[in-house]
Amino acid sequence: MKRVYTNESRFLVNNIKDLIDAQGIPVFVKNEYAQGAMGEISPFDCWPEVWVVNDADYERAKDIIDRAHQNQYADDWICNHCREQNAASFDICWNCQQESK
Ligand SMILES: [Zn+2]
Repeated sequence: MKRVYTNESRFLVNNIKDLIDAQGIPVFVKNEYAQGAMGEISPFDCWPEVWVVNDADYERAKDIIDRAHQNQYADDWICNHCREQNAASFDICWNCQQESK
């Protein structure tokens, strides 16, 4: 088993898991419900993680994640006014409302 992805967002982690799952690769999520019950563990240790069952699937799973990220961030833009990063779906800056696209 190998860990292929981790993020503090359970939503993103499940998204990635579904993408890999859709390719027929056996995959599961670890630490999904660990958040909020941290105790003495550092927050990073509690991030949900995506694992592939078979080490042989690791490279393929990584490819899927890379491609998902490229699609997700391909059209992000940086505001010329305040330098904040904006998602492609925003026409005006979420931070300063300037139309800087
Ligand atoms: Zn701005």
